[in-house]
Amino acid sequence: SFPAEAVPQAPEDALFGLMRAYKADESPSKVDLGIGAYRGDDAKPWVLPVVKKADEILRNDPNLNHEYLPIAGLASFTSKACELLLGPSSPAISEKRVTSVQTISGTGAVHLGALFLARFFKVNGANRTVYLSNPTWANHNQIFENVGIPVATYPYFDKKTKGLDIEGMKRALVDAPDHSIILLHACAHNPTGVDPTPEQWREIAEVMATKKHFPFFDTAYQGFASGDLDRDATAIRYFVEKGFELVIAQSFAKNFGLYGERAGCFHFLASPSPDAAGITTRVASQLAILQRSEISNPPIYGAKIASTVLNDKALFAEWQDNLRTMSGRIIDMRKALRSKLEELGTPGTWNHITDQIGMFSFTGLSEKQVLRLRDEFHVYMTKNGRISMAGLNTRNVDYFAKAVDKVVR
Ligand code: PLP
Repeated sequence: SFPAEAVPQAPEDALFGLMRAYKADESPSKVDLGIGAYRGDDAKPWVLPVVKKADEILRNDPNLNHEYLPIAGLASFTSKACELLLGPSSPAISEKRVTSVQTISGTGAVHLGALFLARFFKVNGANRTVYLSNPTWANHNQIFENVGIPVATYPYFDKKTKGLDIEGMKRALVDAPDHSIILLHACAHNPTGVDPTPEQWREIAEVMATKKHFPFFDTAYQGFASGDLDRDATAIRYFVEKGFELVIAQSFAKNFGLYGERAGCFHFLASPSPDAAGITTRVASQLAILQRSEISNPPIYGAKIASTVLNDKALFAEWQDNLRTMSGRIIDMRKALRSKLEELGTPGTWNHITDQIGMFSFTGLSEKQVLRLRDEFHVYMTKNGRISMAGLNTRNVDYFAKAVDKVVR
């Protein structure tokens, strides 16, 4: 019989454990800088006004039902999701070099991509190693390990400058065996908030082309980072332009505020070649088989909401406006936090707070300081010193800055 008593206790997910501790804290001054979910200035979740509108349109539709989607998902959603990444006039789309599958948000997209590569991306029968940035979104490690893909890391964060260690990263890419899988955050790197500059992306692409590495883009913050959807897709579009064969895991959790609806896409893109459309068709057939055995077909409601917005000019414009609201508030909080710390004369430099971009900032605070912030000031953040900028607002940013000042001194 199955020896269930031999199953060991697994540790609690660090981030969700932090969320629980925050909820249990009864202090009125508590601050939640843990989970990466947008909050308004009132510290509450924000349902995007454009999502409310789309929701109403759907609910008033007499033909609304709860039927299954096709295995690859809602085509009106996945096709627009692809255009959003590559640009509507991308030759990759007109040449039928892309296939897209709707997934369980970004996590499901990374998983489906990992599963696909575990099955088909082999040299001499062996899986290739995936290289993850150090640090990266914690879930990347276990997603790839779960499907049997070996995991290694490349240097990314420079502790001294609190910026990108571009030389270390390039060296690791050169040292990695040819045809390695390189996971890249398209924008708003989680957890550091540090993105390569356009020039650094060119250098990374050049090394990767020489080494025939395979780019695996993870994009969870398009439009949320800079407020500009095209700008946040620059890195992906550059790699596509350079002719890479690549895959993309795309999440709509943050940029639509559709966290729990689990709307996402996985895209495979073939390099330009006479057989590119054929390769893409064959890949699509295999993805369909994997999808069928994993989830049968993806959830419908979040995809319908996003599709309603993506396919309507006026709603799309309103979405862009909502994105600017979210990214703008976060950029304002970065400025406020930095200037407050500088005003207090808090030891150290704080320019990285405004140099970094997106949901997160890697503050440089040590684990000891993080724990003191939790115990003495009721401020909740991950042990690596990462803060979710969305947890700051005009009412708590001064309190947080003062608390940081105290634990740094
Ligand atoms: N990838 C990165 C880098 C992320 O930060 C996240 C969310 O935090 C995801 C993927 C996936 O999130 P979700 O599954 O909620 O779309």
